Amino acid sequence: MLAEIRGLNEECGVFGIWGNQDAAHLSYYGLHALQHRGQEGAGIVTTDGTQLQAVRGEGLVNDVFNEDKLRKVVGHAAIAHVRYATAGGKGLENVQPLLFRSSTGSLAIAHNGNLVNATHLKQFLERSGSIFNSTSDTEVVVHLIKKSKHSPFRAKIKEALSLLKGAFSIILLTNDQMIVARDRNGLRPLSLGKLGDAYVVASETCAFDLIGAEYIREVEPGELLIISNNGLEVDSYVEKDKRTMCAMEYVYLARPDSNIDDVNVHMARKRMGKELAKECAHIEADVITGVPDSSISAAIGFSEESGIPYELGLIKNRYVGRTFIQPTQELRERGVKMKLSPVVQVVKGKRVIMVDDSIVRGTTSKRIVRMLKEAGAAEVHVVISSPPMTDPCYYGIDTSTHEELIASNHSVEEIREAIEADSLTFLSLEGMVRATNRPFEDENGGLCLACFTGKYPTEIFPDTVLPHEKDC
Ligand code: SF4
Repeated sequence: MLAEIRGLNEECGVFGIWGNQDAAHLSYYGLHALQHRGQEGAGIVTTDGTQLQAVRGEGLVNDVFNEDKLRKVVGHAAIAHVRYATAGGKGLENVQPLLFRSSTGSLAIAHNGNLVNATHLKQFLERSGSIFNSTSDTEVVVHLIKKSKHSPFRAKIKEALSLLKGAFSIILLTNDQMIVARDRNGLRPLSLGKLGDAYVVASETCAFDLIGAEYIREVEPGELLIISNNGLEVDSYVEKDKRTMCAMEYVYLARPDSNIDDVNVHMARKRMGKELAKECAHIEADVITGVPDSSISAAIGFSEESGIPYELGLIKNRYVGRTFIQPTQELRERGVKMKLSPVVQVVKGKRVIMVDDSIVRGTTSKRIVRMLKEAGAAEVHVVISSPPMTDPCYYGIDTSTHEELIASNHSVEEIREAIEADSLTFLSLEGMVRATNRPFEDENGGLCLACFTGKYPTEIFPDTVLPHEKDC
């Protein structure tokens, strides 16, 4: 669905390239492909081997960069970032990559994810004299590296990373190397690719496709990749823990043309739709429609399995100004009508199955159901291609608190009543996991399911701050 009106937001995307003289432009294109992961700020830091140079700004990738700016950041390597701003985390100082200059050398960092022990680490660092420039967790990582007594530099990084708990896909850049790391559970996605002789890393493989890079493999949980003019060196900073990649990447967050762990996101969503159709065989309907964009794949799968025709019953207005892309509840609600319109000729007098990927607060679902009924739909059956979202995410997705999550304190029947649907069906947990078809023997295919089960794969501390209460 429309991330900006629904209250379920990805927090950040990262990109890095080493070994191409056009690193800044390629990063710019990479960020374009990752724009859905964050629309509030973007940045690129390059190196030519002698100095790190940064361009950063608030807004969409196209707002932040132009040819003049890109020509000024030269070099054969770059790291880049798009970010989703949270209520408390606005401001240029939080736009990544963060760049730190010191007498021992400059260092830039781009981070996707959320650290569950950031508050604790920050208190420890502040007590020992660190001063923070931003409200971002990411700065904690750099202070830990700087504080480390280990030597050489790689040992400092290993020590710092081993202290982090939670979700992180991190890319670091110095004048002579690019260092890539993923948390021990592999909670947020991170892929490795090649473009000619250059190495490329990105949150999603759609960034590789846009620049013509070839996918090599996922960065493994707990892995540390060191990329330099000597090539790629594979190391690790910690033993891999239980693999638990975020299930919501398949359900909603990632772009349909991306592959995660060799599973195409669109195909996974289609299979979710098929599983859902099997679980909804009792519903009689004339037409199926999906809430654009992320529910279209599941709606097609539902239609293929059920034989009920798929139609474009809802249209997304792609040209609403980004003034409305604001992470506040009021604007989210006002934004629904600005961004979605029903196609009267498709839904009038029909029993409509409306496929959506998730229900967070329920307010948007209610508005869409009303919109379809006002357009003349005889019945609206809401089917959701994931289980009820009962628990908040501490790993970088802004899913709100227990109080705000409608499924946390309401039964399915109560939610159906609240959203004014004729029926409401959620996909079962087993059906969703089966649909992802992940190539791992691990429990649940190595997926994190915590926002559906409350079983978090890492410790959660009393002072763990939810992603929407701070920057990612
Ligand atoms: Fe993804 Fe949910 Fe796990 Fe967060 S809690 S990482 S949204 S599956």
